[in-house]
Formats: sequence, structure tokens, C-alpha cells
Amino acid sequence: MNNELIKLTPAELSNLIESWGFPKFRSKQVYEWLHKHHCTSFDAMTNVPKALRQRLSETFPEQSLAVVDRQVSEDGTRKYVLRLHDGCLVETVGMPLYRSDESIERLTVCISSQVGCAMACAFCATGREGYSRNLTASELVQQVSLVQQDFATRVSNVVVMGQGEPFLNYDEVMQALKMMNAADDLHIGARHITLSTCGIIEGIQRLSDEPEQFILAISLHAAIQETRDVLMPRVANQSLPALKEALHRYIEKTHRRVSFEYLLMADVNDSEEDLQTLVNFCHGLLCHVNLLPMNAVEGAPFQPSSNRTVSHWMKSLERQGIEASMRKSRGSDIAGACGQLKNQLVSRETS
Ligand code: SF4
Repeated sequence: MNNELIKLTPAELSNLIESWGFPKFRSKQVYEWLHKHHCTSFDAMTNVPKALRQRLSETFPEQSLAVVDRQVSEDGTRKYVLRLHDGCLVETVGMPLYRSDESIERLTVCISSQVGCAMACAFCATGREGYSRNLTASELVQQVSLVQQDFATRVSNVVVMGQGEPFLNYDEVMQALKMMNAADDLHIGARHITLSTCGIIEGIQRLSDEPEQFILAISLHAAIQETRDVLMPRVANQSLPALKEALHRYIEKTHRRVSFEYLLMADVNDSEEDLQTLVNFCHGLLCHVNLLPMNAVEGAPFQPSSNRTVSHWMKSLERQGIEASMRKSRGSDIAGACGQLKNQLVSRETS
């Protein structure tokens, strides 16, 4: 749906619709179609007069997302490649957690915040494709509502961990998260919405001023500066001591815990020195470490760490008082890593 239209407050929408000569109650109907039903076409607003639908569509051309590829993993994960109104492609992932009776206990959606990404992380398929444009708030919310409709289940958690660096698209991302959180919209608890950043310090500072308790995750991947600079070259200008200082300020202000994402790569960032430096980095911070299994990306020179290393890291972190967990890989049988599915589709379409 059109980004400018969904950003209107109820009062703004009402003023606009009344200025066109329609009664006030029509705006409530339109607002509900947009925010409660996440309607993607004016034609579907069946209780709204045709003349008003016509006026809306002329003023706010439709900007909907279309599914161009959908793959379902053995574990139930669904990965979508979505075509935006201007032809750009993005990826979204729906990850259900099933109860023993096979009903869905929790549905998490991983959304993209940009088309492509400028951060050029060495281990990431999206990083190799470069940046095209920011997603709008509408495109962010639509990713969630589309997955919700596809599973016919309420989305309980959102993670902004797909393609893109959300803090380089701060305003649209924040507007979208506030809509997802709103009681008259998707009504997803703020503590069930996680933003993952490479460590853009300005974004961390801005997030600490937001009243909602969104969760902050930092893609750390190395606590040794030289290693991190190689893996994540575009944040090399934001040093680890400066990041730690910003996190201290964030925690002091919000009293919220920060998560560190750490992708374990064999012989790259999984030595004893890497482990001890990570422990030192975490020291004094209210934090949690998420060790991530690696999905091998075609053409990338990185391999997952051995099971033995992973279990050694888990035990050592716990022994040294650092809360840690090992995240399970989801959907690895269907082009698991961020950007892989979209890249496969693009190469299929262009070959
Ligand atoms: S890992 Fe995230 S921030 Fe880094 S290049 Fe990939 S999409 Fe961008």
C-alpha cells in the first residue's frame, strides 16, 4: 500500500477525506482497511464507496509487494522473494515454532530494511550485491502482514535482521516498528521486536531515546578490531571501544539488555584469543551472546566452526559469567543465508 497514505494519522486521514466531501466515518473505515486488515488494494475496501476508492487510488497510487518466489523448508520455515512496486527484489523469512500437536506456538518474521546493503560484510551474500535503496515504512510493515496472511497465524515476533542496515534507514524503520507495535495495527509487543545493527553508533544513541522497549542486537562477529575490520569493513571507522562506550550509555539510559550476534567461522574468528577478547568486550555490559551457526555461502571463503569449537565456546562463556545461547539454523535446506535466495532467483532470471 502507498507509503504516504499509511503514514497518515487517524486525524490527518479524517481531515483529508472530509475535505474531499465524504463523511467523517468513511475515514475510520479506510483506516481499518489499512491498519487492521492490511489491505493491499483499494478494490478490496468493499464497504467504501467507489468514488472515494477512486480518489484514494489517484492520490495514493498502490505500492504493493508481490511474491515472486516462495520456498518451504523441512522445518516449516518459509522464505519469500518479494517484488516491490518499482521492480526491486527483497527477501523475507517466516519462522514458525510448532507445538507437539503441530499448531504454531510462535511465528517470527525476519524482514529486510533495504534493497541490497552498503555494509559489504565479507560473509554475506547481500553485502556482495551492493546497495540500491531504502525500504519505506509501508514496505516493512507489508513484509510482516504478508507472512501473517500466508501462515494464517498472528505474527508474535519480528526481527529486522534481513537484508540491509536498519540504522541507515532509521526514520522509515522506526515508523514501521511503531506501526507493528500499535494496538490498532499488528499489535506486536515492543519486546518481541528486535533490531540488528552492525554497530552504527548514531543509531544506537537515537534508539535509546525511543519510548518503546525494542530490543537491540549488535552484529559483532569479532571482538578483535583487525578481524572485525576485515569481516565488516564499512564499520571500521566506528571502533570497538567507541561501540562499547555507546552501549554503556544505551544500557544506562534504557536498562535494557543488548544481544551480540556472533557468527562462528572456522580459523577466522574462533580462536582462544577471539574467545577471550569477546569475554573482555562483554565484561561490564548487560548483555547476551548469540552464537550463530554459519550457512555456507557459494563463493565465500568461510566455513562453519566445528561442533567441538562451538560447544567449547558455549561452556567457556558460561563459565566466565557471560550469558550465551546457540541459535538453531532455520531453513538451511532452502538457501539459508541472507540474500542467497534472491541472488539465486536473479541468476535464474538472467541466465
Ligand atoms: S550482514 Fe547485514 S549489514 Fe552486513 S552486508 Fe549483510 S545485510 Fe548488510
